[in-house]
Amino acid sequence: MIVNTLVHSLLDLALPPGCVCCGTPTERDAAGLAVCPACREGLAAAAATPFCRRCGRTVGPYGSCGHCSRHSPPFQAAVRAGPYDSPLGAMIRALKYRDGLHTLPLLADLVSARLHQANLLAEIDLVTFVPLHWRRCWRRGFNQASLLARAVRRRGGATAQVVRLLSRTRDTPPQVGLSATARRENVRGAFRVRRPEQVKGRRILLMDDVMTTGATVGECARVLRRAGAAQVAVAVAAVAESGPMAVASGAAVG
Ligand SMILES: [Zn+2]
Ligand SMILES: [Zn+2]
Repeated sequence: MIVNTLVHSLLDLALPPGCVCCGTPTERDAAGLAVCPACREGLAAAAATPFCRRCGRTVGPYGSCGHCSRHSPPFQAAVRAGPYDSPLGAMIRALKYRDGLHTLPLLADLVSARLHQANLLAEIDLVTFVPLHWRRCWRRGFNQASLLARAVRRRGGATAQVVRLLSRTRDTPPQVGLSATARRENVRGAFRVRRPEQVKGRRILLMDDVMTTGATVGECARVLRRAGAAQVAVAVAAVAESGPMAVASGAAVG
């Protein structure tokens, strides 16, 4: 940590850090993360955006969810730190595509706050995450959903353990640009429960970085329920509402 801080200070003397979300030169916080005041405000606004407690989608001021009334999701509850179309989106892209692991503590804090608010942590026996296919995981070097799950548990004070309950049996093509129906087809049968005896009767919190149509977390929840899970709740860092924005931003992973 001290070495990290020293390296950051030396680097900052040469070149002030850019905000991880928008690039504006700004100071690092105690954890070494550079997020400018405007983007911090954007994160707070994202957290305050009302969302459906069942599916995680943004809802209007009256709180009723048009989506859940048409298709009831295969999980019982969902929380998110905010919409993807906010500084959260840039933080998640940094986490995934650059050496943005230093965004992890703040993302985990934002998700933990929502979990506490929804009172979900007390009702959970196990925490798990959407798996990557081993080939993709090997190429990237890590699974961001697994890192987020472990960071949320560490920083949010969950007593439930993080366990890798699912594996990905095939490497599905990216979901970007696919319709909701095509996304569901794309991930159907792509996951399996590794040890059903770990899942039976348990209340499970399933984590991912981004949810778009809910096809990926929905398929994982279905597989967990089929293996006997008593209940599945979902927590994601951000929800990208489907539409041209989600497709263009490259957010669309599921
Ligand atoms: Zn910024
Ligand atoms: Zn809903």
